Amino acid sequence: MIESPLLPRIQAYIGGEWVGADDATAFQVTNPANGALLAEVPALGPRETDRAVAAASDALHRDADLATRREWLEAIDTALRENQQELGRILTLEHGKPHAEGAGEVLYAAGFFNYAARHIDFLKPRELDEQPRGCTWTVHNRPAGVVGLVTPWNFPIGMIAKKLSASLAAGAPAVVKPSSKTPLTMIALFTLLHREAGLPPGMVNLVTGAAGPIGDALLGDPRVRVLSFTGSTSVGQELIRGSADDCKRLTLELGGNAPFIVFADADLDHAADQLLANKFRGGGQTCVCANRILVEASVIDRFSEKVAERAARLRVGDGMEDGVDLGPLIDRSGYEKVRRHLQDALANGAVSVLGDDPGPLEQDHGGFFPPTVVRGVTRDMACWQEETFGPLVPMAPFEGESQALEMANDTDFGLAAYLFTGDGERAERFIPRLQFPHVGWNTGSGPTPEAPFGGMKLSGYGREGGIEGLFEFVETQTVPRG
Ligand code: NAP
Repeated sequence: MIESPLLPRIQAYIGGEWVGADDATAFQVTNPANGALLAEVPALGPRETDRAVAAASDALHRDADLATRREWLEAIDTALRENQQELGRILTLEHGKPHAEGAGEVLYAAGFFNYAARHIDFLKPRELDEQPRGCTWTVHNRPAGVVGLVTPWNFPIGMIAKKLSASLAAGAPAVVKPSSKTPLTMIALFTLLHREAGLPPGMVNLVTGAAGPIGDALLGDPRVRVLSFTGSTSVGQELIRGSADDCKRLTLELGGNAPFIVFADADLDHAADQLLANKFRGGGQTCVCANRILVEASVIDRFSEKVAERAARLRVGDGMEDGVDLGPLIDRSGYEKVRRHLQDALANGAVSVLGDDPGPLEQDHGGFFPPTVVRGVTRDMACWQEETFGPLVPMAPFEGESQALEMANDTDFGLAAYLFTGDGERAERFIPRLQFPHVGWNTGSGPTPEAPFGGMKLSGYGREGGIEGLFEFVETQTVPRG
């Protein structure tokens, strides 16, 4: 079982108190690297969720001013930085990513609180220059109400940081539902929030447990005015349908299917380095990682060899071991999905440049999938159409700019894309035509706290990060004064 000073108790958190499930039930969290049991976590349900929403609703009426909210954000930023290594360790144990990456994610998370603290003045009331109808008009950014924040397992602290920094900046009390695969990092974060952030009771609440009943309770409660969800598109679509009755506002950060486009005039070594960093982060289990690698036909052999050489040097293993670059996949179904994509590609004409079918998993936990590179991928293949979420690098050739563009946009998803070309004029023509809200030009970089990030099409809507993200949990109230 996990031992940590940041986990003095493994409990949920409602109204400033640590709590278990009413019926004392719990679910298990295991280490994907070895299947070891890490903890038993309370399995809350609708009744406890209702109490969490009630506590948040009470906190709403206590109304904290902007200076106080800035202090909360600064305190959380500091607490995360001071506990970076230990939080990173907990994260690695339950997620599997290498510890350096886990600790890096903690700093990334701190960056959102830091950014929100430094830019919270954007939420100050604004008096209009004009005085229509003889009135003075003031536009206020009020907290939108109680907000539900639902997060996935692939960034156990990064994803909540995006949401919570903005909800606290807005003064909107939150009920947080973490993924049942990685709730321990969240509990550790709540230990810090409880001890060090100076938040009033009810401002943040944590409900751990089965998604269906908790999700339904949040959806069905009219006090919850905004539901911010990061996860799969299918669940996001259920939330859209379920939120119709009381017109709840949704922010949806859903799946991706990122194209990584390499023209022959690109610096191929740089593109290969960037692809490695982008694709193998989190074991390839990120929404922004390259899913379809489109390479100009004249250089695809050369480029795929460069990528394969680099990928072959990656060390796969338990993320707590020194020198490991790639941890396990999160569970058996994650492993089997990558394997299905590889088998399907090879059966339909793709050629392996590095790696082969690693065979079925013997156990339920994680499973180490080695870095695998294939070329000759076509659009009918599963790895083209679906998000693979693993260390498979599928390459498809293209001829010329218009085919590259048409292939890149050939997806219902719209989240991130990457373009590698040495021709600036081409990039200026190409980027506006890409149906992706995030486009890395000669970089495989994903989001950062300073810039807005979010999806279009089946990747969702709303923005997190940047000034735009600060407005996700406010309700604009306009007051003309006669
Ligand atoms: P998921 O299965 O959709 O789960 C996400 C979260 O939603 C978890 O906390 C889950 O709880 C909960 N959930 C599941 N069903 C629910 C329901 N009916 N009502 C309310 N909550 C529900 O996704 P995942 O497998 O954890 O995450 C991987 C997906 O997230 C990928 O598609 C990835 O692309 C996407 N993602 C997108 C972004 C982005 O910024 N666009 C970022 C990261 C990840 P349980 O764990 O208890 O089931």
